[in-house]
Amino acid sequence: MIYFSTNKSSTPVSIKKATLEGLAPDGGLYVPSEIPVFSAPEMQLLEDGSFNNIAFAIARKFVCGEIPPDQLSDIIDSCYPFETPLVELEKGTFIEELFSGPTLAFKDYGARFLARLTGYFASEDRKLITVLVATSGDTGSAVAYGFQGIPNTRVVLLYPSGKVSRLQEQQLTTAGGNVQALEVQGDFDDCQRLVKQAFTDQELKERLTLTSANSINISRLIPQSFYYAWATLHLKAQYGLELPVFSVPSGNYGNLTAGVLARMMGFPIGHFIAASNANDSVTRYLDEGRFDPHPTIPTLSTAMDVGNPSNFARLRHFYGNDHHAMGKDITGIAISDDATVAAIRDIFRRYGYVIDPHTAVGFRALEEYRQASGSRSPGIVLSTAHPAKFLEVIEDALEKEIEIPERLSVVLEKKKQATMIGTDYRELADFLKHLDR
Ligand SMILES: *Cc1c(COP(=O)(O)O)cnc(C)c1O
Repeated sequence: MIYFSTNKSSTPVSIKKATLEGLAPDGGLYVPSEIPVFSAPEMQLLEDGSFNNIAFAIARKFVCGEIPPDQLSDIIDSCYPFETPLVELEKGTFIEELFSGPTLAFKDYGARFLARLTGYFASEDRKLITVLVATSGDTGSAVAYGFQGIPNTRVVLLYPSGKVSRLQEQQLTTAGGNVQALEVQGDFDDCQRLVKQAFTDQELKERLTLTSANSINISRLIPQSFYYAWATLHLKAQYGLELPVFSVPSGNYGNLTAGVLARMMGFPIGHFIAASNANDSVTRYLDEGRFDPHPTIPTLSTAMDVGNPSNFARLRHFYGNDHHAMGKDITGIAISDDATVAAIRDIFRRYGYVIDPHTAVGFRALEEYRQASGSRSPGIVLSTAHPAKFLEVIEDALEKEIEIPERLSVVLEKKKQATMIGTDYRELADFLKHLDR
């Protein structure tokens, strides 16, 4: 399998190069040259497979030839030692819980796979790879814990001092070992600028092999298709239901793009709902056919506060830039903060089930979609984070305390380890130049 850039002016590359490069040299996003399709017999074999069986079958098609099957199988097992529950709230309405990983959010699925592929390719080249990331919170924690303890890799995270929540800061600064956090006395834009500058620093690049782990990496996208595939097969085997509608709480649109990928591979998905908060660039595109991103608006579902989604170029590519074709498969629905809070309350009252603000956006969008379209298809809302990650919002909405899972309380008790730096590039360069080779 080879990968080419959505901007079409870089040379096609292997999965190894695409993974280690992240962004193509022409600024585009890597996409597979063809989408592998599962034949009917192959699909049948997967029907009563475990999550990891299905994940392996998919991954194998994307890395074919570059990682031997037994090693790929070990990689998959070490990525996903946790469950991916499909919880039935009422007949035909499901929540797929994607928060059983170490940082309690779905980004663990992509980050853990990317980390292990990076480690594999680094050891092949007998190199130590330094992953440099700027984070405003959610991505960084998944990367920190994804790469934790992976041989031949180390992570340097930059986050803006005082601009992430206490929980996020704990997740960013306590992984330890091969993960180091830099607390930047500036904002997220400063962090991003510093990282960009490091990538253009020739002297530094001669000392260190640098890579980024941002959300446009193809090796973060591929693994996100696993849980769509698993849900469709499990839904059929366990409940006898087919062709579900997936409601996907969206920010940078990586998650939704991975769903589209799963559908193109032949997994039986009926429809998608692109559920957004007030940041509705894609919803407006679906309605009007014009992509006109607006500045980011802060909302309660903070991880979805993205004005100009980075994965949208890939989504458009998959639909040949045809907004009508995209609109046949995807309905965009934007949900206000008030409706989000109402949904958190409503779902707790109806089912005794607590959901986080992002999942609430997805749930409310599914309800609106069903009302508007009369659809009676089974519905699956992707639950992108554990409610305990957003304690204040949930406790305000429900006026009650909620339980904190152990893997979160453990992180809260660890000692923060971070190095403070200013916003001058020389400070970052100095830190990086003093890392061991
Ligand atoms: C990142 C994130 C999202 C948005 O996912 P995209 O792939 O960027 O669309 C939604 N919910 C949570 C909790 C997240 O962390």
